[in-house]
Amino acid sequence: MSNLSSVFYLVSAVLFILSLRGLSHPTTARKGNFYGMLGMAIAIGTTVASPGVLSYKEIAIAFIIGGLIGSTIALKIQMTALPQLVAAFHSLVGLAAVFVAGSAFYNPEAFDIGAVGSIPTGSLIEMALGTAIGAITFTGSIIAFGKLQGIVTGNPLVFKGQHFLNLIIGFVIIGLIAKFCIVQTPEYFWLIVLASFAIGFLLILPIGGADMPVIVSMLNSYSGWAAAGIGFTLSNNLLIITGALVGSSGAILSYIMCKGMNRSFFNVLLGGFGGEQAVASSGKKDDRQPKQGNAADAAFMMKNCSSVIIVPGYGMAVAQAQHALREMGDILKKEGVEVRYAIHPVAGRMPGHMNVLLAEANVPYDEVLELDEINRDFSSTDVAFVIGANDVTNPAAKTDKTSAIYGMPILDVENAGQVFFVKRGMASGYAGVQNELFFRDNTLMLFGDAKKVCEEVIKGLEN
Ligand code: NDP
Repeated sequence: MSNLSSVFYLVSAVLFILSLRGLSHPTTARKGNFYGMLGMAIAIGTTVASPGVLSYKEIAIAFIIGGLIGSTIALKIQMTALPQLVAAFHSLVGLAAVFVAGSAFYNPEAFDIGAVGSIPTGSLIEMALGTAIGAITFTGSIIAFGKLQGIVTGNPLVFKGQHFLNLIIGFVIIGLIAKFCIVQTPEYFWLIVLASFAIGFLLILPIGGADMPVIVSMLNSYSGWAAAGIGFTLSNNLLIITGALVGSSGAILSYIMCKGMNRSFFNVLLGGFGGEQAVASSGKKDDRQPKQGNAADAAFMMKNCSSVIIVPGYGMAVAQAQHALREMGDILKKEGVEVRYAIHPVAGRMPGHMNVLLAEANVPYDEVLELDEINRDFSSTDVAFVIGANDVTNPAAKTDKTSAIYGMPILDVENAGQVFFVKRGMASGYAGVQNELFFRDNTLMLFGDAKKVCEEVIKGLEN
């Protein structure tokens, strides 16, 4: 049976790798998801069928309750609330790691790691590390959830001596782990849990709202390492492999996001970077009046031009305007206009946010281009139709060294012949920075909800 389990676990591990590979591109994402689901089904089936299971009743109850909660959330969740949902789920992975380590510590015989008071040092180290990472992931993810949900302020909460305090707690945790491995007493186990809860809380609290998605991805990485730690405790190879896959892919994703936003990974981690500046810049009030257009103007101009680049952003996601946008694009194409979509790496609130929404609306993949592929084409394009995007087009990223987004690559929409900005008002974007483009001569603001404006443009195109 154990050989057979190993084969099934290996199949699951390969399916998880194929899943990650599939998820790296919108055209293969559906297949990637399927591989992931299949891999998980095989993994759960193999584990449940293993001879170590003593009673199926509890497993069945947990399965039904968990399955019901999971499917209800999946069916009801709004796309815009996905980042906080992911943060909430990570907190559960962290807590699970603490519980498993606790069970192994209190009942080592059941886990085949010796007896109470004489657990081998190797197992104790794995247990302590899994517990510490799991506990940090738990409180860190709860704060991340609170910030993204608006329960905790999105502004960085910083105080004097914060980094020093974190450093001290870090050393205290290392000391506690060492002592725990020697004395093997419950007090030290729980002290590790408490100190790790505290540092998880203190690490995430100072991080500004704009950097939260990077942190969610980093916590995803932590939750993977915590799972790998549990894998060692349980001697479960699949959990070790899966945890390592999640841990490393989360770390790589965090790095890519930092690069896309031109943030230093360490600055984000150390907290407070960007958020303070963003708050300061959002305080500036601009009394200038932008030029305002309407949907009929936009429809007329776009119908009579030869090329349009659509730049979607967070507002398109909020308004769920992707279907109306695609319909607008289809009509323009029928009129002989070249229509393309330009995607900034950090448009929206999570990596691939815009790609997912456009794919959902069946926008052809070959019309959807990344920043590097399309940025030079704005200068030879008649119209840039910016829908619910703001920061990702803001030239302050290139010109204003004091700006929170300075250094972030942007989509050069300003180079297009005519720029339309679809948004509800003059509010700034996530980084809280005023966008100079709203006041340029070649800009017309189309105020209103993104979906509504698209529908009005469609009406204008059909007349
Ligand atoms: P922004 O947050 O810069 O701007 C979105 C704009 O959409 C707002 O100015 C808002 O203006 C408008 N808007 C909101 N709701 C609607 C609606 N219903 N209809 C029309 N407009 C609406 O979004 P971008 O996508 O340009 O930039 C993403 C930001 O998120 C960047 O700062 C990026 O650094 C940050 N970020 C993204 C990450 C990612 O992975 N994608 C990761 C980390 C950070 P108004 O209220 O006036 O309508």
